[in-house]
Amino acid sequence: MTDERPFWNMEMETLPPEKLHDLQMQKLKTQLAYCYENSELYKKKFDDAGAKPQDIKTWSDFRKLPVFFRNKEDERQSRMESEEKCGHPYGMHLCAAVESLIDARTTTGTTGIPTYSYTFTKHDANLWKEALARMLWRAGVRSHDVLLYGLNLGIYAGGIIADFFRDCGIGAQLVETGVERGAEFMLNIAKSTKPTVMFCTPSFAQYLIKKAPEITGKEVNALGFKKLLTTGEPGIGLPEVKKLVENAWGIRWYDALGPTSRGNSVSCDMDEFQGMHHVDPDITLWPQDLVDPITKESIPVEDGAIGEGVMTDLERESCPFIRYAYGDVLQVFTETCKCGVPGIRFKIVGRADDMLIVKGVNVYPAAIKDIIAAFYPKLTGEMRIVLTEKPPRVTPPLKMKVVFSASLEKHQLKELDKEIKAKMHSSLKVTPEIEFVPEGSLETTTGKAPLFEKRYES
Ligand SMILES: [Zn+2]
Repeated sequence: MTDERPFWNMEMETLPPEKLHDLQMQKLKTQLAYCYENSELYKKKFDDAGAKPQDIKTWSDFRKLPVFFRNKEDERQSRMESEEKCGHPYGMHLCAAVESLIDARTTTGTTGIPTYSYTFTKHDANLWKEALARMLWRAGVRSHDVLLYGLNLGIYAGGIIADFFRDCGIGAQLVETGVERGAEFMLNIAKSTKPTVMFCTPSFAQYLIKKAPEITGKEVNALGFKKLLTTGEPGIGLPEVKKLVENAWGIRWYDALGPTSRGNSVSCDMDEFQGMHHVDPDITLWPQDLVDPITKESIPVEDGAIGEGVMTDLERESCPFIRYAYGDVLQVFTETCKCGVPGIRFKIVGRADDMLIVKGVNVYPAAIKDIIAAFYPKLTGEMRIVLTEKPPRVTPPLKMKVVFSASLEKHQLKELDKEIKAKMHSSLKVTPEIEFVPEGSLETTTGKAPLFEKRYES
């Protein structure tokens, strides 16, 4: 095995589609039987659906099962129930003995009670290390690299990713500064340790473009990094942002994704973003199984299809997910990527909970935000969708408030209004009614900006 090989796991990452499918089915059957045996919750889910694991013989049999978790709330429910009934917080979908767990980290819980979605037996931990190694390898990380770690450390997922990066087998050196102590601390450490790979969120990578000259007296591209690897937020999907960040850092930007340590995916070495390549389809399914975000009925997974991704583990011991509609709406691509690597890819389109239906067309606020962001610097990127009735249905026109930059002349708004409408019509098949508002007129928060301004009685 050499550093030049294209994949970390040459055997698993180059399996022909039929062989991969056979392997997935074989593992799936074993996983379903295991869950049925070892979890009261899964047994009930199967019984309620009038099915037994041994009835699931084909992929289409499997996709006829209802989704077992409809959203994060179902996972939370499972957690609260297990605290009450079993005295542990790992959920009623815990299938292994509590004593066999070696690690458990929570989601941040910004939108509710945190769940222990990152819970591992030794076997599960090895699965994630394998998947992380595949992602790092595809982003070109090798044993001689030094990786500056800029996510939060500790109980949250960021902490365990650091541990698993170190133990994944590639052998790169980890400089574990974390982001908690701020950019100055991090860059001062970087001066002496000379990292080659930066790992952080897309917004932190953008923040350092501004901050590096203040702290080090030099542009960010003078820090000596060879690669930028990010996770946790959109960014790379916007062509202007990708170009800006790659130019400022003077390196290739890779984005990685593995929510709840599953469906691990990484972007490839192309100027134009081609979506995320799913690197562990033999370990967890996600872009392979799509449902309608509202009805949760299975929809065909073909090139260009859009639907809510459904997670299913294939060999998890601790807390396997079976048909978990995780909330992210994906657009999948089944044709071989322009980079030459086959296998399923996807782009995140938005969150299922936020979806709107305008004249029968599904519209995702995240996609609208992306379009508005592309009009920077004429627009600041801040916006709200004004809802006068309970979503998801919207009686047209879709109303929006959009913040324009102080530098813009009032008479330019008319032209801008036309341009935005044309862009939204061609990309999203929706023509909005836009109210332009000056900077400072939308309430700002320190957290995630709200997407909606609700003007209806709930
Ligand atoms: Zn590619």
